Amino acid sequence: MDKAQQKISILGAGLVGSLLSISLAKKGYDVTIFERRPDMRKAGAIGGRSINLALSNRGLKALENVGLKDKIQESCIPMPGRMIHDLKGNLDFQPYGKEGEFINSVSRGGLNWLLMNEAEAVGVQIMFDHRCIDVDFDTATAVFDNGKSIEADFLFGGDGAFSALRNAMQKTDRFNFSQEYISAGYKELTMPPAPDGDFAIDPNALHIWPRGEYMLIALPNLDKSFTCTLFFPFEGETSFASIKTEADVEAFFNDKFKDAVPLIPNLKTEYFENPTSSLITVRCSPWVKGKTALIGDAAHAIVPFYGQGMNSGFEDCYVFDQLLEKYGEISDALLNEYQELRIPDGNAIADLALYNFIEMRDKVADEKFVLQKKIEKKLNELYPDKWIPLYSMVTFSDLRYSEAIARGKKQQEVMNEVLSRPDIEKHWDSMNFKAIIDQV
Ligand code: FAD
Repeated sequence: MDKAQQKISILGAGLVGSLLSISLAKKGYDVTIFERRPDMRKAGAIGGRSINLALSNRGLKALENVGLKDKIQESCIPMPGRMIHDLKGNLDFQPYGKEGEFINSVSRGGLNWLLMNEAEAVGVQIMFDHRCIDVDFDTATAVFDNGKSIEADFLFGGDGAFSALRNAMQKTDRFNFSQEYISAGYKELTMPPAPDGDFAIDPNALHIWPRGEYMLIALPNLDKSFTCTLFFPFEGETSFASIKTEADVEAFFNDKFKDAVPLIPNLKTEYFENPTSSLITVRCSPWVKGKTALIGDAAHAIVPFYGQGMNSGFEDCYVFDQLLEKYGEISDALLNEYQELRIPDGNAIADLALYNFIEMRDKVADEKFVLQKKIEKKLNELYPDKWIPLYSMVTFSDLRYSEAIARGKKQQEVMNEVLSRPDIEKHWDSMNFKAIIDQV
C-alpha cells in the first residue's frame, strides 16, 4: 500500500510522540496524534513535569535527522560542566567532557510547542482531549474516553510512563513488566533573575548542591531565571515528611544550601505550594504487539539523573527512522529489529540513571571522584579511542547504551585498582598510562 494511504495513530503529543510524528510524516505516512490533554498552545499553560531539561547528543542527532537541530539549539543554553556548591558556598566547576562538549538546557514546554507546530506543518493532525483507554492490537484501534474508536494501519504508544497501550499489553500473556519507585521524590523551586536583571548564578553550568542522601540542582532558563529541583527522600529523619513548617524549611535550607537561600526569595511559599512528585523506573518487554509498538517513556521510563529520558526516547525515533530506511515499510522484520536493539539499551540507561543519583548527590563532592575524573581526562587525551569516560559515552556519543555500560564497567574495575594505589593523588600524573590502557 502507498504510504500516504497508510494511517498511523500515535498516542501522546509529548516530546517523543511529536518527534516521531514528524519523522513518519516526512516519510510519507498519514499521521494522527491523539493527546489526552487540551492544546497547551491555546491554554497558554505549560503543564507536565520538569520546567527545563538537558538535551544532549543523542537527542540532537534525532532532531538533526528531521532538520530541527539548529532551530532548537537557538533556544538552548549550553552547560559545559557541573558547578558544585559545597556547604560553605565554595564553588568547583567540573567540565563534563572535552573542550567544546556541552549539554543544553532547554524549556520542556517550548520544545514540545515547537515540535507540535513542526508536526502540523508537515501534515500531522493532532486531536486533543482524546484520552486512550484501550487498544485492539490486531486492528490498531484506539478506544477513547469520549466514546470514539479509531482504527489505523499501525499504532504507537508514545503516551508516557503510565501508557494506555502498555497497560493494554500488560493484560496479555507473556508480557513482562516491572515498575519501581525510588525512595526520593522531587520538588521544583524558582531562582529568579538577579536585581540587575542578569542570571543570579553562572548560566553556563548545571549547578549541584550534593549533600549525600539528597541534592539540590539548578538549570538555567532563557528568561535568566533558574529552575531548581530538590531531590529528597519522602520519609526519614531528613525528608519531605520531616519538614513540616516554614521554620523547618528555613532552618534546613540555611543549614544545607546556605548560598542558594537568598537567591530563592519565594522558597517557603513554593516549598509548600509546589507539588512533590515521585520518580519511577518502568521496564517491559516485548515493546511490539500485533500492529502496535511502544516508544519513549511508555517503553522505558527512567529516573532523571543521567538527563537521558527524553534523549533516549528521541533516539528510539531515530533508530525507528533508520530501520524504515533499511526495510522500506513497517514490517515484522523491522519491528523485531527495533525491539531487539532498543530493549537492552532501554534497560541499560535505566540502570545507569539509577546509579547516577548516587554519583550526583554524593560522589561529585568526593576527592577520589575528582581524582578519577582527572586521570580519565588524561587517559582520554592520550588514547581517545580506547578510554572514553562513561559520562561521555552516554552523553556525547551515540554508542549503544548497552555497550557504554559494559565498557564503563570494565574501565571502573581498572580505575578502582589505580585509585587504591598508595599516595596515588601525589603521583598520578607520572603513572604508566599505557599499562592502564592495556588492561581495558
Ligand atoms: P511524556 O513526556 O510523558 O509525554 C506523553 C504524552 O502522552 C503526554 O502529552 C500525555 O498527556 C499523553 N498521554 C498520556 N496518557 C495518554 C492517553 N491515555 N491517551 C492519550 N495521550 C496520553 N530527560 C532528558 O533527556 N533530560 C533531562 O534533563 C530530563 N530531566 C527530567 C527531569 C524530571 C524531574 C523528570 C521527571 C524527567 C526528566 N527527563 C529528562 C525525562 C523526560 O521528561 C521524559 O523522558 C520525556 O518527557 C519522555 O517523553 P514522552 O513523550 O515519551 O512522554
